[in-house]
Amino acid sequence: MKTHKITLIPGDGIGPEVSSAVVSILEAAGAATGVRFEWHRHLAGAEAFEKTREYIPKELYESIEENRVALKGPVTTPVGGGFASINVTLRKKFELFANFRPVKNLPGLKTKYPDVDLIIVRENMEDLYAGLEHEVVPGVVQALKVITSKGSTRIAKFAFDYARKHGRKKVHAIHKANIMKLSDGLFLRCCRDVSLGFPEVSYHEHIVDNACMQLVMNPYQYDVLLTENLYGDILSDLCSAFVGGLGLVPGANLGTECAIFEAVHGSAPDIAGKDMANPTALLQSAVLMLHHINEPETAERVQAGLEQVYREGKVLTKDVGGTSGTKAFADAVLKAMEAPV
Ligand code: NAD
Repeated sequence: MKTHKITLIPGDGIGPEVSSAVVSILEAAGAATGVRFEWHRHLAGAEAFEKTREYIPKELYESIEENRVALKGPVTTPVGGGFASINVTLRKKFELFANFRPVKNLPGLKTKYPDVDLIIVRENMEDLYAGLEHEVVPGVVQALKVITSKGSTRIAKFAFDYARKHGRKKVHAIHKANIMKLSDGLFLRCCRDVSLGFPEVSYHEHIVDNACMQLVMNPYQYDVLLTENLYGDILSDLCSAFVGGLGLVPGANLGTECAIFEAVHGSAPDIAGKDMANPTALLQSAVLMLHHINEPETAERVQAGLEQVYREGKVLTKDVGGTSGTKAFADAVLKAMEAPV
């Protein structure tokens, strides 16, 4: 039996509910496929601060450094003040430069857009998201948009490498270089340069506001979306609506040393603690993690169980038109996984 040590950050809001559902499913899939998980649980954010006086306790940093793989639930970030985003801080600390977000319909779940299959590759460390802000004089604040050729080239290379490896045909760089001529201009120049090394992948550019309209009109014209940090953040939520919403779309924060797997969604305070959250997005993030740690059999078992539940359509959470709770949904996936894959 192979053992994987994984740092687990349950997070807050719906985080503990969805992570406990996901852990139970991974445990069962692992037991059936000869894989054991050693979960190293850590708090982060407001709850961590209450207990340790640190928003990201030292032990959490050490755990990720040691295990190199983390599964993370959402963590609430205060709006308009308070502590810096835990998510952004972790991405910067571990140089998780690529945010990889596949947006794909699940079988049996009817949405207004069937058969969407998009990949969002979002730069994960720069841009306005770096959070570099200051007050110039009272009433005037400045936020610095940081774009570097190193960061832009690295993320473009990631997107094209992915496209080449997985037979994707098109990459669209999304930008606003008509207005932000220097910053988005640099991003675009780097994307163009990288594209030259990948003649088999066609390269296109869309201005971000037009891209929003084009996506809603016809998402099928896109394949891989290559974006800076903020545009990628916004487009991810938009694209999640194609396949049923934020309860479904997974994500991976990838660097050269470590990786943190987390859903696109946040802590959903409106439904927290009510057994209403859909654990699918975190579960599909965990599937990405299983592939990352080279456990494809376990990954396929989980994905097959999940897809069977959607195909049957009997036990679904409210966000996707069902009436079941988080726990009942997780139980349905556990049951579906008992059938041989
Ligand atoms: P949100 O993603 O938490 O919620 C948006 C809407 O989607 C809500 O109506 C919510 O109920 C619904 N939703 C989200 N996940 C769902 C799920 N799994 N199942 C069913 N419905 C789901 O976005 P928000 O309300 O703008 O942000 C809340 C908090 O989360 C903020 O503090 C924000 O900073 C934080 N956040 C954290 C992360 C992260 O940890 N990676 C990401 C995004 C937002």
